[in-house]
Amino acid sequence: MSETRVRFAPSPTGAPHVGNIRTALFDYLWARHTGGKFILRVEDTDQAREVENGLELILESLRYLGITWDEGPDVGGAYGPYEQSKRLPIYKRHADQLIAQGVAYHCYCTEERLEQMRKVQRARGEQTRYDYRCRYLSPEERAANERAGLPKVVRLAVPPEGKTTLHDFIRGDLTIENKNVDDQVLLKSDGFPTYHLAVVVDDHLMKISHVMRGDDWIPSFPKHVLLYQAFGWEIPPHGHVPMVTGADKKKLGKRHGSTSVLQFRNDGYLPEALLNFLARLGWSLDDKTEIFARQQLIDAFTLDKIERAPAIFDYGKLDWLNGYYIRELPDDELAARALPFIPQADPAMLRALVPLFKPRIKKLNEIAALVDFFFEQDLEYDPQLLIGKDADAATARAALRAAHATLEKYPEGAFDDEEKIEAELRADAERLGMKNLPFFGALRVAVTGKTVSPPLMSSMRLLGREKTLRRIARAIVMLEKP
Ligand code: GLU
Repeated sequence: MSETRVRFAPSPTGAPHVGNIRTALFDYLWARHTGGKFILRVEDTDQAREVENGLELILESLRYLGITWDEGPDVGGAYGPYEQSKRLPIYKRHADQLIAQGVAYHCYCTEERLEQMRKVQRARGEQTRYDYRCRYLSPEERAANERAGLPKVVRLAVPPEGKTTLHDFIRGDLTIENKNVDDQVLLKSDGFPTYHLAVVVDDHLMKISHVMRGDDWIPSFPKHVLLYQAFGWEIPPHGHVPMVTGADKKKLGKRHGSTSVLQFRNDGYLPEALLNFLARLGWSLDDKTEIFARQQLIDAFTLDKIERAPAIFDYGKLDWLNGYYIRELPDDELAARALPFIPQADPAMLRALVPLFKPRIKKLNEIAALVDFFFEQDLEYDPQLLIGKDADAATARAALRAAHATLEKYPEGAFDDEEKIEAELRADAERLGMKNLPFFGALRVAVTGKTVSPPLMSSMRLLGREKTLRRIARAIVMLEKP
């Protein structure tokens, strides 16, 4: 058996979409499972669709997920260059070869003529396609066009009869009648190849052993098969992986929520969770296992377990997985990963807070709202929050005064005895004839600036005696203002 060589071949047209990266992940897992190579090839032949930092966004997305590649534009390799825009002479040579063999031809039609042709076809209710005008030019006509220096493209001469079949290892045989296949442009007038020529030439020259791509590419299969046949090359196994959809079964898009891998990173999803989640989009080991660490995925991943049915991107499940992986992280590690999400935090303090937020979050970007009060000097909040719904300022003030008096008796460090303090505070409330809810509600707002917070006693302990008392005193003053 020859070595497994699989490639991810993105076009640098924007922030990589989770659907594309899922396909890259399948390639990566298969390469690692077999001990083969994972190749990154940048398909930058459509200059109009390119974005400036497109390559960087791709590299960053893969790096975030820890998907490593063995050959690629940045690391090189024996089959480079790995950016198609740097391989133009290779495509030209192959296009010339096809012309010499008579399986491709130069087409001199102008864009205006083609547009006019399509207009007529549309008006007749026909499928738009090239009408063969330049396919059957006489040698004299060709020579005249060449002498006139007309711009030209190279088109594939699709056989008018017969059928073309690709065996797809996920879907079985795909077959189409050749009469329904367009004479595809292979090389554009600017010297750039189209996707179809470039992908076949490169998959062959780079010795790709398995081609996996999204099933939105199925319509291209006949062009690729015909090209392989024209060159006399063996077709590597191809598999079209299922599309990723939203809950409404429509192709995953912005309307469903985030779709960019880097957006998930910025929202506080752990790479472990997203990797696990993406691997399960169209692949499963059995009908029960959901949790897979990277190495388990590598060990378990085989091509026969890739599914045909569209894969639903379930945001709720991703959140659940992310919460799971957050709770699996050691506290030191979680503190380190949380820091970028709350940059104003003192790292030692944030580490101490981990037990407070770890059980309560699904995403790292939820931490700031929970614990930012630890890192602020003067809390900003509406004094009305201290009073609550059914009470009045005098009652809230009395509650805070009592709490202040009780807490003041505890020296620094003695806030550790959370149970004892809580019992005393409850006794205060009782003495004042207050229910626990408004009493502790006022105290919570005074100390945290929020009506919902991590457990109050632990919050006061971690905040420390001095800051806690200062915040309560400030709240009492706020309530005294008319
Ligand atoms: N450049 C194509 C894309 O962006 C690659 C498709 C393929 O893998 O063949 O989807």
